[in-house]
Amino acid sequence: MSLVSQIFSCQRCGVCCQGDTTISLNEGDRQRMARALVMPESEACKKFWRTTGSTVQMKTVESHCIFYEQGCKVHEARPWRCAQWPLHPAILTDENNFLTIANSCPGINKNISYRQFCEILQEILKKVNFSC
Ligand code: SF4
Ligand code: SF4
Repeated sequence: MSLVSQIFSCQRCGVCCQGDTTISLNEGDRQRMARALVMPESEACKKFWRTTGSTVQMKTVESHCIFYEQGCKVHEARPWRCAQWPLHPAILTDENNFLTIANSCPGINKNISYRQFCEILQEILKKVNFSC
């Protein structure tokens, strides 16, 4: 059993892709996504992203991310923050963060203690750099 699967198993409920706001894309996210969509960034921007000042996010359609359709249509090139979810490092600093995330994501393993969860998450975060 992998470390990740000890604390998280995605139920593909789509909850994290719902809402009228989406997470922001950094430069690496934009380059990777445009490559996966096989189009220049300018075209991807026009079709799929919305820009507010210096913040670039995916557009939303009917209150979900434009890429959500019974799963993520750009899964392999999704933004790093999407790839990181729900294993956010803020879980390690405050149990309330853990409870908030655990209550919104049914994939979180709630059958182990907060301490055990953090021990495993720490190991995962040492090995995986989600921000690249
Ligand atoms: S909310 Fe959690 S279980 Fe549901 S799709 Fe998102 S990561 Fe997977
Ligand atoms: S890019 Fe994919 S994983 Fe991220 S919010 Fe949109 S549909 Fe969900």
